[in-house]
Amino acid sequence: MIAAETGLAQNVEQVLARMRQAASRAGRRAEDIQLLAVSKTVTVPAMLEVIQAGVKALGENRVQEARAKWPQIETQMRWHGCEYHLVGHLQTNKAKEAVNLFDLIHALDSERLAREINQRAWESGKIQRVLIEVNTSSELTKFGVEPEEVKKMISVVQAYKNLRLEGLMTVGPLTGGLEGARQAFRRLRELRDEAGGQQLLPTLSMGMTQDFEVAIAEGATLVRVGTAIFGERM
Ligand SMILES: *Cc1c(COP(=O)(O)O)cnc(C)c1O
Repeated sequence: MIAAETGLAQNVEQVLARMRQAASRAGRRAEDIQLLAVSKTVTVPAMLEVIQAGVKALGENRVQEARAKWPQIETQMRWHGCEYHLVGHLQTNKAKEAVNLFDLIHALDSERLAREINQRAWESGKIQRVLIEVNTSSELTKFGVEPEEVKKMISVVQAYKNLRLEGLMTVGPLTGGLEGARQAFRRLRELRDEAGGQQLLPTLSMGMTQDFEVAIAEGATLVRVGTAIFGERM
């Protein structure tokens, strides 16, 4: 058992300490790497606890779940300046709601979705921050644009006035262990460098509980951690 709900602040501290160590080993500054606490399936009291503990971003993978929780966390989120991110796949018919709920959408993976989010953001008078999800491990089960399509997708997204492209996101492979993860993360960073570099695409969202230290070694600027903070999901 990784965590009891009473020790969430301690879990956050432990993850931050591991992030600092990984940054230091990589010769990077800890301030350049953001922690996103992935709260999918997690109860509202547990989320409030990590907001209190100082976490500055929470992430969900389902719009419906986020919508249900939002009214109960909104005040605390705003008070603490905590962002809400969508890390999971987004269906075009949920784009409007996603635009209303989320500060950053991590998994933009098709031109059609880009067009839909842009349209909804325009209607809401919002500039929606987005990342493009890349399938770095060529797993058929994975979402994300293929590496060869990244440059094209970047120019599509950049042409939309109500989208602000901040970087790239990937999920490590299901198999292949830490070495497989390292290759996928390195691939994402290389794609970013080829497509315009840090200036244009400052955010690299990669690394989860199993592999966030490897991701930091490979250049992650945002790690998405659920289990190490909240414990095993039901
Ligand atoms: C669930 C999830 C995470 C967090 O996974 P853990 O292994 O619990 O840290 C990160 N990213 C995405 C896209 C997820 O769906």
